[in-house]
Amino acid sequence: MPCPYSVKTMRTVIGLEVHAQLLTKTKLFCSCSADYFGAPPNAHTCPVCLGMPGALPVLNERAVEYALKAALALHCEVLSRSTFARKNYFYPDLPKGYQISQFDEPLAVNGSLDLPKRIRIRRVHLEEDAGKLLHTETGVTLVDLNRAGVPLIEIVSEPDLSSPEEARLYMEELRRVLRYLGVCSGDMEEGSLRCDANISVSPDTALGTKTEIKNLNSFKAVEAALAYEVHRQREILERGGSLTQETRLWNEKTGQTEPMRSKEESEDYRYFPDPDLVPLQVDDAWREKVQKSLPELPAAKRARWAQEYKLPEYDIAVLTEERPIAEYFEAVVKLYNSPKDVSNWVMSELLRLVKEPTEITITPEHFAQVLQMVSAGQINRTVAKEVIEESFKTGKAPDEIVRQRGLEQISDESMLAEIVARVLAENPKAVADFRSGKEAALGFLQGQVMKATGGQANPKKTRELLSWLLNRDLTPPLP
Ligand SMILES: [Zn+2]
Repeated sequence: MPCPYSVKTMRTVIGLEVHAQLLTKTKLFCSCSADYFGAPPNAHTCPVCLGMPGALPVLNERAVEYALKAALALHCEVLSRSTFARKNYFYPDLPKGYQISQFDEPLAVNGSLDLPKRIRIRRVHLEEDAGKLLHTETGVTLVDLNRAGVPLIEIVSEPDLSSPEEARLYMEELRRVLRYLGVCSGDMEEGSLRCDANISVSPDTALGTKTEIKNLNSFKAVEAALAYEVHRQREILERGGSLTQETRLWNEKTGQTEPMRSKEESEDYRYFPDPDLVPLQVDDAWREKVQKSLPELPAAKRARWAQEYKLPEYDIAVLTEERPIAEYFEAVVKLYNSPKDVSNWVMSELLRLVKEPTEITITPEHFAQVLQMVSAGQINRTVAKEVIEESFKTGKAPDEIVRQRGLEQISDESMLAEIVARVLAENPKAVADFRSGKEAALGFLQGQVMKATGGQANPKKTRELLSWLLNRDLTPPLP
């Protein structure tokens, strides 16, 4: 049977539902610690998050503030009144038998995130997380409720993404935004940022039958699972078959999605307003206060840097990935106004030393001082790297390190000439090699001079002296 559709006419439509765990100290409706990672099972629980009868939830104001930050950063319209609803389902990790979420009156709607292609955001709402099940090797399942009640925001995009790659780029940018705001750690491996994807492939402009994919816990998984699903759905359609609406699980090991259960319609959850919680009111003053507290976001920063610093796109991408690094870079440029130079040094030397972007132990002042010493010819680049490393480890001022360790660059010509002459005398083979045309020998000899001076010889002057002596066929006098 001939293929009814040509591959070219197939259209892929993807929408993502992202769950981001908010970095609050306590849970969404009780005062238990929300920092459950690595804690002993069920240590962070109380009658509220255990779902004891009669225990009443109290909304965490900080969680609302964080959700507002995210919603405003995503250009959403914040609703002055939103409500909490019970999403009813039975599962052992859900002690109340329902999850408190927001349904028909979410916190915020109609936002967008630019990639630069504009991806519309349908809604941002607050909800609580469920607990965790641990399946042991002996076939026993244990319940840990430390995560039950931890605040989440769900960010639902419109189906504006048209390829697996675009879906990954969207996730990456969303993570950057949330991390810049400081509202989510963005750690996908620990489950702080999770993603479900809806995808359909259709032969025309009508929407196809959509599949939901769960269990996407890395950027790689998002892209790979969607690519697999595009392929699977296309193949079925090209064979003339039809797709069923279903939920599928991504299996990292096999690299395939597998059917999970037929998609529940939202009616199945029997949503209804939670009678224990009053509507959430966000007035103009609160919204404006949060709006004013927003930092410059990654996209705006990238655009400004391209204008202001004229840096290559690659440098901008690397340096703006983490907000502390971006701010550090700008602090150094203020003191040493040569953006490309600073960019090179930060990318090569600082990022090599930094384990966590929040732990930069060399001050911008000290970093700039090293660069000033290099440009003034006081120290060479090799020494500069050492000085940066030592200042990073000890917090000492670079000029002090240079003075104490006698690292000043040797630029004095008579002193250098003496050392160069000695090196030539000691390496007759390399000298002969160079004179017979092997230019690489010059590099070797320069290395010997650096070695003899503990890396302090002025490299430019060394090279000049070396080639002057070598090209003149002079037999250097022994010192
Ligand atoms: Zn609790």
